[in-house]
Amino acid sequence: MASSAAPSLPHIRLLATGGTIAGAQTTGGRGYQAGKFSIDALVAAVPQLATLARLDVEQVAAIGSQDMSEAVWLKLAARTQAALDTPDIAGAVITHGTDTMEETAFFLNLVVRAEKPVVLVGAMRPATAISADGPMNLYNAIAVAGRPAARGRGVLVVANDEIHFAREIAKTDTTQVGTFNSGHRGLAGLVNAGRLHLYAPPVRRHTAQSEFSLDGVAALPRVDIVYAHAGMGRELIDATVRAGARGLVIAGVGDGNLGAVPLAAAAEAAKAGVAVVRSSRTGGGVVERNIEVDDDKFGFIAADELNPQKARVLLMLGLTRTREVRALQEMFFAY
Ligand code: GLU
Repeated sequence: MASSAAPSLPHIRLLATGGTIAGAQTTGGRGYQAGKFSIDALVAAVPQLATLARLDVEQVAAIGSQDMSEAVWLKLAARTQAALDTPDIAGAVITHGTDTMEETAFFLNLVVRAEKPVVLVGAMRPATAISADGPMNLYNAIAVAGRPAARGRGVLVVANDEIHFAREIAKTDTTQVGTFNSGHRGLAGLVNAGRLHLYAPPVRRHTAQSEFSLDGVAALPRVDIVYAHAGMGRELIDATVRAGARGLVIAGVGDGNLGAVPLAAAAEAAKAGVAVVRSSRTGGGVVERNIEVDDDKFGFIAADELNPQKARVLLMLGLTRTREVRALQEMFFAY
C-alpha cells in the first residue's frame, strides 16, 4: 500500500512481522491471537500517519514474536537493508511482538549497515483491546524514523512514549504497558505524540560501524542458553554440548556465577571448543572477568552488560567470524 501523503514528507518503509500490535481479541476476554491483522489494516486504523510520512509497507512475517527465529532474522535483516539502501527512503519501521523485540532489535543493530533510522515498534495490548497502545506507538515510531536527528543512533525501539536503544532495552513485565526498561544506561529519548526529545547517542559500536556481515551467511551457529539456579546439576550443560551447540550462554546467578558441579561441566565444554559466555539472570549490572570465577583459567567469556538473550545474539554473530576466546571477549567489550 502506498499512502497519499504530501510528497515533501519523508518516505518510510514499514516492515511487518506480526505481534500483539496486530493481535485480535476474539471474545472480549483475556485471550487473543498475535499477528492477526495485516499491516495495511493497522495503517488504515491510524489516518494521522499520513501527516508524518509517505509510507509503503511490506509484510515480512505474521507471527507472535515467541516464534521469531534465526531464519526470520536473516530475512528481516535483508529486507531492512534493502529498504535503507533505497535512496528515496528516509528510514524503516518494523512492527514486532514484544516478547523477543529486544533480541531482534539487537540483532539488526549488529548487522544492518546504515545511518538511517531503524525503529522497532510493538504493543502490549491487542489492536482490539480497550485503550490499545499500538496506534500511538506506531505514530510515534514513524515520527522517529522520519527525523534526521534520529540517524546514526543504531536500531531503536519505540513504546509507551519512550525511545530505547536496541542494546539496552529489556522486556521486564509480562503484561504492563510500561514493560520496557533500559536499565543503567537509560533511554535514547522520549517521544510525545510525535515530538522528539533525544538524549545522548549510544557509546558502543552498532550498524554502520559494526564488523558483522551476513554476506554468505545461510544459517547462524547454534548457541544455547542455560539458566542457573540453586542446586543446579550439570545435565543441561552436557545436553547442549551433545546437541552440537557451538556456543553456550550461562544465565548465571548473581555476577554470572555457577555452582561447582555445573562450573566443571562448563569448563569441560570450553575445553572441548564450545564458546562459553557468563551472563547473569539478575537483569542488571556488569559481569566482569575473573571476579568469583577464574575466566582466564577456564577459558570463559564475560558478557559485560548484555543479558543472556542478547549475549546469545552477539555470540552467534561472533562465531561467524572467529572461535578464538580472546577475540570473542573483545566483542563483548565493544558492542
Ligand atoms: N507473544 C506476543 C508477541 O511477542 C505478545 C507480546 C506482544 O506483542 O506484546 O508477539
